Amino acid sequence: MVHKPATQIIFDDANTILKSGKVIGLPTDTVYGLAADARSDLAVAEIYALKSRPSFNPLIIHVQDLQQAQRYGEFNAEAIRLAQHFWTPSKTASALTIVVPYKKDSGISSLALAGLDTIALRVPNHTLALKVLSQFNGPLAAPSANPSNCLSPTTAEHVRTAFPGLPILDGGTCTIGIESTIVWCKDDGVLLLRPGIVTQEDLKVIVPVQKFIPGQDDAPQAPGSLKKHYAPKTPMVINMTKPLPGDVYIGFGPDYPSSMNLSETGDLKEAAGNLFRYLHTADTQNKQRIAIAPIPDSGIGQAINDRLSRGIK
Ligand code: AMP
Ligand code: MG
Repeated sequence: MVHKPATQIIFDDANTILKSGKVIGLPTDTVYGLAADARSDLAVAEIYALKSRPSFNPLIIHVQDLQQAQRYGEFNAEAIRLAQHFWTPSKTASALTIVVPYKKDSGISSLALAGLDTIALRVPNHTLALKVLSQFNGPLAAPSANPSNCLSPTTAEHVRTAFPGLPILDGGTCTIGIESTIVWCKDDGVLLLRPGIVTQEDLKVIVPVQKFIPGQDDAPQAPGSLKKHYAPKTPMVINMTKPLPGDVYIGFGPDYPSSMNLSETGDLKEAAGNLFRYLHTADTQNKQRIAIAPIPDSGIGQAINDRLSRGIK
């Protein structure tokens, strides 16, 4: 018989646990999620409790496809264009969450929506996650599987360490490695709420999009726009061209080398994929400080710098 660690579950268990209203650790293309039935207040409450997440922070609802998403959200023409373009499994850059008006009384727990009249929907581009969604045949609330304010998890091991005893479906290392880009499709235009692997330039090819400026719009509460988030326990500094004594150094490209280099060739996509994994590793080295090399602030670099700037204590 194959030995299986107590918390590691197989595909068939996942559906049984979800149907019983409990939470599982679920791999997606971006990061691991804490997934539970989005229609059940109790199941959703367990997610908030596990993460110690403030109840005003809404959860992303994961669905199989645009058709299922439209059961819960009102998609205007721009939202449909974005979904058709980015929620296609063959696309590599598909990590896009779309916020649209919530279809009242369509069954999502109001706790998951934090009482808002909008809903954030996403189709993960991950074979195992899509299989789970298809077998479960319902919407799954799935925020990142980390305690609030801590680093996002990109391996099953990260989830196991943060939530001992939680049933986890192990899908290996997440390929994208940072959370999805979030856009808000309003009647008067599309706003970029959180940068990610899908960049503003990628979005602009499909629809006009403005960057959301916190405090300048009536945006719903979004931890993605809170100042402090994603922080390692060790103090962190950014834009360091070289380490100082006592630092663990995370390098970038040929100009800022290190044994932990986000991308030796300076590839921003590769760097985004390694970011949280390296931060997790650096955080366990009991050094005084984590120092990070400068990262160009263009394209995917904006998503990386967004996460890093909010990790500084
Ligand atoms: P996480 O799943 O941990 O990556 O966090 C989910 C992100 O989606 C947070 O930044 C939420 O605030 C954001 N979010 C979820 N629902 C909404 C919504 N209806 N409007 C705006 N942002 C949302
Ligand atoms: Mg998160």
